Amino acid sequence: MNIHEYQAKELLSKFGVAVPAGIPAMSVEEAVAAVGKLPGPLYVVKAQIHAGGRGKGKFKELGPDAKGGVRLARSEEEVRAAAQDMLGNTLVTIQTGPEGKEVNRLYVTDGVDIAREFYLALLVDRSTGRIAVVASTEGGMDIEEVAHSTPEKIHTITIDPATGLMPHHGRSVAAALELTGDLAKQAQRMLGKLYDAFLGTDASQIEINPLAVTKDDKLLVLDAKVGFDSNAMFRHPDLAELRDLSEEDPMEIEASKHDLAYIKLDGNIGCMVNGAGLAMATMDIIKLNGAFPANFLDVGGGASKEKVTAAFKIILSDPAVQGILVNIFGGIMRCDIIAEGIVEAAREVHLAVPLVVRLEGTNVEQGKAILAESGLPIVPANDLGDAAKKIVEQVKELEAA
Ligand code: ADP
Ligand code: MG
Repeated sequence: MNIHEYQAKELLSKFGVAVPAGIPAMSVEEAVAAVGKLPGPLYVVKAQIHAGGRGKGKFKELGPDAKGGVRLARSEEEVRAAAQDMLGNTLVTIQTGPEGKEVNRLYVTDGVDIAREFYLALLVDRSTGRIAVVASTEGGMDIEEVAHSTPEKIHTITIDPATGLMPHHGRSVAAALELTGDLAKQAQRMLGKLYDAFLGTDASQIEINPLAVTKDDKLLVLDAKVGFDSNAMFRHPDLAELRDLSEEDPMEIEASKHDLAYIKLDGNIGCMVNGAGLAMATMDIIKLNGAFPANFLDVGGGASKEKVTAAFKIILSDPAVQGILVNIFGGIMRCDIIAEGIVEAAREVHLAVPLVVRLEGTNVEQGKAILAESGLPIVPANDLGDAAKKIVEQVKELEAA
């Protein structure tokens, strides 16, 4: 689960991390009113979307010469103009994809005199199973580009969970940022606070880009992206409230209501599978047969009729889907019950695309019989390879026709 920059900064400041003063705004009037509450004379109006690259982004409605989603302003009038340009318009950045994201919230923040911009992130490094700190003097810009062209400028320091954060970690980070004296001390203190915030919130990522050194030698977080481990959100009801549903895919929200694990992908073959491993294998074998999955969908071990119906509806609400592959292993759930669910769901949603079903497991014969006797154009498959081949063939035939 991700949150907005302004929420991330409010959270980090509770842990004692230095951030500039700022006020979130949902309307032009709120943005203008924020000016009176900030020290000035420089303000920054920032579009709040769950994507980076806002500064270099472009608003669809404003044309290529207009400014992006991070704008300096020196007066109420300039704040008003920036807010009017941003609110309700669609910001396209390298991270949003070409469709962009509609801006519904702004953050009006204190403008800072920047001397240098660094990159500093804490994340869960899966290969070492540890929290890793990534630090670079090359902040502000596209860190992927830095990693690609000058990888030696990116320093990674992993933290052993048995010792937790030690003073030497802080010294390493300060050295990686080429800081000395008081700024090095500030970096060490900040790392301690970020580490506390990371553990205390069950974060999966805290990315600060840029971490700025101001002209008066203060270390300040100018942009923050914070994500949490969704599986731990039950421990943090206050953080769960920060979720902004307008930032999430409506189909994924619908799926989470039915306790289905659904992720939309770019292909045209909808998949309904039980178990994440089987779902991954199904996606792989679709690709092996020369097509692409339209989604990842795990209906879970105890796939009920209701869940199967909900899953069908979600798959079919994606206009890109030209065929569906159901691949279910009846372990906890019996195949005959699944088959009944499939038949009922297919009737209810007036299925208009080819449907290939592969069932295996308990009561598989009864299950296959139910599908065959349904009178619906369901194509049975004997195994996973057969199923993938059949659905890809069916969809290709339709495309050719
Ligand atoms: P994004 O990463 O989405 O483009 P940032 O918040 O990183 O957005 O802003 C982009 C750039 O704008 C920063 O690298 C920094 O140079 C400048 N900037 C952002 N916030 C401030 C601020 N409060 N004061 C001065 N400059 C800022
Ligand atoms: Mg940034």
